Amino acid sequence: MAAVVAAWLVEGKDNEEETAMGKQRKYLDRGRKIELEGRPYEVDWMTLLGAGRSAVQRGRADGAAFLSEVMWEGVDPAVVTPRPAALDYPLMRRWLDVNEDEAIDYLMDEWGLAFDEPAPENASQANELLELEDCITAGRGAHMLSAYQRSLPEGTGTWFVGYCSDCLRAILMWIDDDDLSSRWWPFYDQESA
Ligand SMILES: [Zn+2]
Repeated sequence: MAAVVAAWLVEGKDNEEETAMGKQRKYLDRGRKIELEGRPYEVDWMTLLGAGRSAVQRGRADGAAFLSEVMWEGVDPAVVTPRPAALDYPLMRRWLDVNEDEAIDYLMDEWGLAFDEPAPENASQANELLELEDCITAGRGAHMLSAYQRSLPEGTGTWFVGYCSDCLRAILMWIDDDDLSSRWWPFYDQESA
């Protein structure tokens, strides 16, 4: 039994360094070059949904370009989540530079059904996806949340979170059941370091 525990400790230390919070690792790559710098490896969509929705309902999101500017105000520091790796493009570019296959696999897992095209074949093609203009800058007028990650019905409508399938930004969206009107808020400036 002790041997099993010891083996698990070594294994855990050697590989993932996962915490009780879930999939948190110290390094992005197995080559141990890209430090995660405290960023979650996976996006905790339910936590983002809760924090974003609360900011919207308190009117804090009205004047903010990104929910990250306001969604942790007054929130217990123990549940504040740093920006996840997939939403940190400078970090993703470093990873693509060092290990394009791993980084591309990770992005494909993250984007899931929101990315409805063949996977990029190399770092250069993946970087092109990271350079996509967000829908609003590109003049599309709204984001497209066709494959959401989590949803939460509330009152007369439903909250959704996930990646926009057109620009791959992480978005909080509200859709009203009665008139199908929608509103949306981007979580992070994914371009910023
Ligand atoms: Zn979009």
